[in-house]
Amino acid sequence: MPTALKTTLLLFLLSLFTAVYANAAHGAIPAPSLRGAFEQGGIVFGRTAPQANITLNGEPVLVSQAGNFVFGFSRDEAGPAQLVVTYPNGDIWQQNFAIGSRTFDIQRIDGLPQQTVTPDPDVLAEIRKNNEEVWHARQFRSQRNDFANGFIWPAEGRISGVYGSQRILNGQPRTPHYGLDVAAPTGAPVYAPAGGVVRLAHPSMVLSGGTLILDHGLGFFSTFLHLHAINVNVGQEVKQGEKIAEVGATGRATGPHLDWRINWGSVRLDPQYLVPARN
Ligand SMILES: [Zn+2]
Repeated sequence: MPTALKTTLLLFLLSLFTAVYANAAHGAIPAPSLRGAFEQGGIVFGRTAPQANITLNGEPVLVSQAGNFVFGFSRDEAGPAQLVVTYPNGDIWQQNFAIGSRTFDIQRIDGLPQQTVTPDPDVLAEIRKNNEEVWHARQFRSQRNDFANGFIWPAEGRISGVYGSQRILNGQPRTPHYGLDVAAPTGAPVYAPAGGVVRLAHPSMVLSGGTLILDHGLGFFSTFLHLHAINVNVGQEVKQGEKIAEVGATGRATGPHLDWRINWGSVRLDPQYLVPARN
């Protein structure tokens, strides 16, 4: 065997031994299992020791009694994101993740009632009241595990609007659109994409019309807008696939469609990450 090769082999064996020895001596700190998209609007599901403490960029991430957790990244997240897991025995695992940036569409919508684009002061006051109700509904941090059991599409139909689009309403630039829109006729069924508890059921908000919020656990929420009818009540528990509402065009909408939104606390995420691709 040539000397160079012998040396290489020896160095390799030495490094292998050192790695094994280091792990045996200190005990390898287990990484949490992570599944999802480290991207703008992306959603990541994880699993770790039930009593572990997790932070994302220094902010706490709730962990269920079963050890499940979820987090996500806003539309404009620049990264890197730092995830830290502190185990009950004091061991700390941490890693930095780059956040993939995405290109978002520009969507022009004309022909909206001008009243809904630039509302009068009294309408504006009503909108603020609506927003407060929505904010309150999303303050729940229930110990539910529904978010960890997978999601299905809440309605049949083609995608008519995507998350993150920059919106120009009646020619005026507005905040981005955070929903995933599914075109469907008025009265078409809306199904619970995952199990949860109803936290808000409002028949007629100014902008979002019939509005329903489902709590999937640990601050992970679905919101459905422009509903024609709501078939569930606040506090009611629903199962995945259960009919919860009907598609409509209530509030600021040009036609019937389901607008589905996902929130992790106040962070708005892209629902498309939860369900199979569709056109
Ligand atoms: Zn929408």
